[in-house]
Amino acid sequence: AAKPKILILGAGYGGMMAASRLQKKLGTDRAHITLVSKHSYHYLTTWLHEVGAGTLHHDNARMEIRKVLNPGKTNIVQDTVTGIHTEDKTVTLKSGDDLSYDYLIIGLGATAETFGAEGVYEHTYHAWTLDGAREMKDHIEFQFAQYPQQKEHKDKDLTFVVAGGGFTGIEFIGELSERLPELCEHYDVPREKVKMYVIEAAPSALPGFDPELVEYGMNLLEQRGVEFKVNKPISEVKEGLVILKDGEEIPASTIVWATGVRGNPLIEEAGFEANRGRVKVDSDLRAPGHDDVFIIGDCSLIINEETERPYPPTAQMAIQQGTAAADNVTHLVMGGTPGPFKPEILGTLASLGGKEAMGTVSLFGHRKLYGRSALFMKHMSDNRYFTKLNGMALALTKGRNPL
Ligand code: FAD
Repeated sequence: AAKPKILILGAGYGGMMAASRLQKKLGTDRAHITLVSKHSYHYLTTWLHEVGAGTLHHDNARMEIRKVLNPGKTNIVQDTVTGIHTEDKTVTLKSGDDLSYDYLIIGLGATAETFGAEGVYEHTYHAWTLDGAREMKDHIEFQFAQYPQQKEHKDKDLTFVVAGGGFTGIEFIGELSERLPELCEHYDVPREKVKMYVIEAAPSALPGFDPELVEYGMNLLEQRGVEFKVNKPISEVKEGLVILKDGEEIPASTIVWATGVRGNPLIEEAGFEANRGRVKVDSDLRAPGHDDVFIIGDCSLIINEETERPYPPTAQMAIQQGTAAADNVTHLVMGGTPGPFKPEILGTLASLGGKEAMGTVSLFGHRKLYGRSALFMKHMSDNRYFTKLNGMALALTKGRNPL
């Protein structure tokens, strides 16, 4: 019989893990494995706040896919997916090519959620991709570089607004506020000219986090000069201007959007039933009504039975789903039955810039961690991912020294 064609879309955490696992489990004897990626590299979305703030070089946040996966076992197609057609089991690509599949794993990541605010896509840095983060960094440095030469200074010139005080927004402002003294010194800009705001619609930053951790994080950031505006939904963004629902206007030349994500628009375009672009997948990670389509990572939605709320979209979840989807496809190829996916949440850790971080870990019980010990655990979890993806060698070259 012809070997089944397994097609994986997206080389993020989920897609890379699925490909790595499938090439190990099935190899070339039992299936054709193809991975479609927009770029020749896999980038680490969870490190992009550092790239955006300029505390980490973008090359450190990416790796060539060919060096991580085995191109002899996985056919790596560098192209952009433009459409998913489940009725005839094909995927269309920007190059004009079509790919057909027997089993599809979709891991195309997320895009910005605007919650109805206008002007977000036009006037903010909202693309949490490697290209988007690099552009953000260059823009920020340019604001500093041009300041000393300006004949007339405007309020907005060195005002940095982060829309959204969730995980991403806090991690980003943590990096930027930590780097600020260096930026001011490098470009001869007086520190007091710089303003940093985090604007959050909920009553506090980091909604859903433990209150003690929220206080720790907010205090630390306030000491570095960050001003929080909570209970303040944003209604609109214009060029250099943030407009809040209560009418307040904040002029800012740099507006970074981080209010949360929705699944890749291709999901809804393909006709899957979705909630904010995310498909509520069956327990075995298949899209309801589709025996041959698995959806993982930020494009998928799973309900946490303990809280009856959806699990937040995280890399941790995408990695575990990538592994589980690969195992389930393996079962199908070998004539078995797919099994249920059981997430194992090991903790939630947010970096705050420099040696600071905070969060909870569920290792030997549920514990709160602050400062260096939290950062240590965060680096360890990155290193664990590299080891899972491609063994110790990758962890040693790409991983971070946790000490
Ligand atoms: P991604 O890893 O984002 O990958 C999607 C891939 O699909 C990308 O490579 C993209 O280029 C590709 N793609 C998109 N469209 C197309 C197309 N049309 N054709 C081809 N390829 C395409 N989570 C944690 O667990 N811990 C953290 O500490 C953490 N920190 C974060 C910090 C920041 C700044 C951000 C933005 C997110 C953070 N997250 C964190 C969330 C985490 O990054 C995401 O949940 C995770 O990346 C989702 O994995 P994924 O595989 O679904 O998508």
